[in-house]
Amino acid sequence: MPVTAATRLMYPDPEAIRTAAACLAAGGLVAFPTETVYGLGADATNAAAVARLYAAKGRPSFNPLIAHVEDLAAARRLAQFDAAAERLAQVFWPGPLTLVLQKAPGCAVAELATAGLDTIALRAPDHPVAHALLAAFGKPVVAPSANRSGHVSPTTAAHVLADLGGLIDLVLDAGPTRVGIESTIVACLGETTLLRPGGVPREDIERVLKRPLDEAAPPPASEGEEPLAPGMLASHYAPRATLRRDATDVAAGEALLAFGPRLPRGADRASAVLNLSPRGDLIEAAANLFSHLRALDASGAATIAVMPVPQYGLGAAINDRLARAAAPRRARP
Ligand code: AMP
Ligand code: MG
Repeated sequence: MPVTAATRLMYPDPEAIRTAAACLAAGGLVAFPTETVYGLGADATNAAAVARLYAAKGRPSFNPLIAHVEDLAAARRLAQFDAAAERLAQVFWPGPLTLVLQKAPGCAVAELATAGLDTIALRAPDHPVAHALLAAFGKPVVAPSANRSGHVSPTTAAHVLADLGGLIDLVLDAGPTRVGIESTIVACLGETTLLRPGGVPREDIERVLKRPLDEAAPPPASEGEEPLAPGMLASHYAPRATLRRDATDVAAGEALLAFGPRLPRGADRASAVLNLSPRGDLIEAAANLFSHLRALDASGAATIAVMPVPQYGLGAAINDRLARAAAPRRARP
């Protein structure tokens, strides 16, 4: 069972694969080899496990993660495949190609794993150990590279332990990976757009599609502006409601996104209240962040008052995302 006092290192025999799958099912963190680098895996459907993954990596922001699946059939349960996506998956999976697709209705992946977006990044890795683990677990696994944020990607189990020993539950050691180019990322959302070059060359993809890929939109011109023009890809979750951060009181009709045991003045006047973590736990708060924001947005309130969240641990990433969600922006399409 997890909770990481010590990190276990296991040779990936069938017994270890079963142990690793059970560990994921219990919300644990398992590093495993893919054809690119070692990934740090967590149950993509378990928001608390995904929050623990961000904490172990020490990431300053919740960027959306790639969900790894066993095969195309598993991917189809999570996302909508247009003709281009279908073709690319048929040809390049398993392999280092990630597809960004519209989420399927009822997609089981946690909001935190996709950073609140309506799209999801999916890939079927081409490594026997990764495949065995995904097959045994039977659910999608998010797996960014198994290193502390800002460090180089690990190509051996020893690299993983050096960075994350004591912070994760288990490492499946299958020796060095085929030295890591990251996966190519292509969005299939009406247009077919290259988001990141990587292991599958652009030319190979264009040959299969029989047409050129679109270029990714340039980054926003200035902070707080979102690339939301038609054909461009939203880079982060943006609620319809206005966010009022660091709220120490609540005005009538505002919704309240609370944190911690003590609610601000006027909380009883709020049109809706959700608490990121009544006990003030930042991992719990991270797990709830996007689903609570969405629910309060859906409540119809024009403004969501957001209590202050401390800036340590996962608080930094929570505040980063709240700042982006609160930034003024142009009209949405
Ligand atoms: P890594 O796991 O480190 O290879 O990085 C994952 C990459 O996938 C990051 O560049 C993310 O921004 C990108 N990504 C994941 N999900 C999405 C999405 N829904 N839309 C656009 N990019 C995504
Ligand atoms: Mg990385």
